[in-house]
Amino acid sequence: MDDAAARDIEGVEGLVEHYDAVVLGAGISGLVSASVLIAQGCERILLADEYGHVGGNHIDWSSGGYTFDIGSLIFQDDSPLLAHFPELLPRYVPIDPSWARLNPQRKVTAYPISPRDDVLAAGVWVVISIMVSVIYARLFQRRMQNARDFARYWIGAYLLHRTGLESYMKRFYGVPAEQIDIELARKRMLWISENASLRALVARWRKPSRSAPTNRQLARPKEGFSVLYAAAVERLSANGVTFRLSARLEGIEHAGQGLRVRFGDNTVNARRVISTIPLERAAALCGINSGGPDLETITLLSLYFSFSGERGFRESVLYNFSHEGAWKRLTVYSDFYGPANDREYFAVEVIADHIGHSAADAEADFREHVRKNGLFDGDLKLEGSQILANAYPIYRNGAAARAAALVDSLRKFGVESFGRQGAFNYQPTARVSTHEAEAALGAKLSPP
Ligand SMILES: Cc1cc2nc3c(=O)[nH]c(=O)nc-3n(C[C@H](O)[C@H](O)[C@H](O)COP(=O)(O)OP(=O)(O)OC[C@H]3O[C@@H](n4cnc5c(N)ncnc54)[C@H](O)[C@@H]3O)c2cc1C
Repeated sequence: MDDAAARDIEGVEGLVEHYDAVVLGAGISGLVSASVLIAQGCERILLADEYGHVGGNHIDWSSGGYTFDIGSLIFQDDSPLLAHFPELLPRYVPIDPSWARLNPQRKVTAYPISPRDDVLAAGVWVVISIMVSVIYARLFQRRMQNARDFARYWIGAYLLHRTGLESYMKRFYGVPAEQIDIELARKRMLWISENASLRALVARWRKPSRSAPTNRQLARPKEGFSVLYAAAVERLSANGVTFRLSARLEGIEHAGQGLRVRFGDNTVNARRVISTIPLERAAALCGINSGGPDLETITLLSLYFSFSGERGFRESVLYNFSHEGAWKRLTVYSDFYGPANDREYFAVEVIADHIGHSAADAEADFREHVRKNGLFDGDLKLEGSQILANAYPIYRNGAAARAAALVDSLRKFGVESFGRQGAFNYQPTARVSTHEAEAALGAKLSPP
């Protein structure tokens, strides 16, 4: 469609722009969707987001020479995202991250479980208790209705508590594990069943795995995500994509063979509308009643610290598996980018609901908890903090089915909705988001 044909005078509404497709949300799902649609022959695409930047919830924060991310964002050089945007690769910073966890016994040890520190070092009675509890669970607790049942079946109630996995699950999911959908547990906690099954243990005993990683780990450029995703914007713009950032969406309605999308300041017509924005928001824009209780999401509170002194662990990512402390995970960015002002710096993720959405309370809780555990002995300074709504879906029992019903209602209306927020889908990585967007649009999956 050329530019002249793409404009149409529509009575009192004035000039209405026409697009082959409108994509809502310029996160990974939206960017990949635009790339797939171009490959499928779309010539005019509008990519709209209420944020003033592209990349969605890949968000960095900088101040006084320190750069932090919301969360622990680590990428790989074999990501299928690079099949769509190969020019991203040279912009990443290669890193060599390592992971550890703080266990309830106040020890920094292997993530997610340490047979040596969590089991063997505890002495013979604890080992016997663990074995009895696993045998009991396998024989008498076979019925699995939620995430706790799932984990208990595989490692037994004793080890679940002793390793701190149960406490971590509550921090991770935002609600106690017994309220979490069993289907999500099966999807997200596969590593437990894979590592704890008798078959896996025997296989490891017979042939210990010594495979080295086949891919390279990467972080965003030091300057932030905007430098990274500028390359994607350039490629898409050159291929017929118009970006509309800081957009205010007001409604979506049927118009002839397609749909009409109303923004605060104008209206566009499109043959297709792809949505990667929160499911309930998209439903409201279409006038669809979502019915039932709201789909809950985790609000993440990030604390940004600089530090000088003895931190007490070597790894770049530390998970909090202890029974106390509201923080979930911390990432030492100075391990990736080098110290700034002769200080290390790191971001701490806290589930905002667990600390009353207060940065001051979260900071006090963190300081007290790391002091008790002998970590960060020195000068710890809070450089800033940030709140992110809609960080992860909370799969309280029944939420997955409600989300699936809403995706279906949107599809019947004519809007294709997918992605982390667009399908209320826990997507841990850009790799998963890329493949799910490709699959949703009927494209061949990029390798690997
Ligand atoms: C804390 C955290 C840690 C992560 N860690 C990693 C990691 O280590 N490695 C990795 O590869 N990936 C990581 N990810 C990325 C993630 O797992 C997904 O790949 C990605 O966020 C999903 O992208 P999306 O486009 O589906 O959703 P989002 O990134 O959430 O994008 C949705 C977009 O919709 C927009 N939007 C919302 N409402 C409206 C509206 N009303 N109108 C217009 N636009 C709207 C939002 O502004 C946003 O830009 C992390 C994400 C988070 C949040």
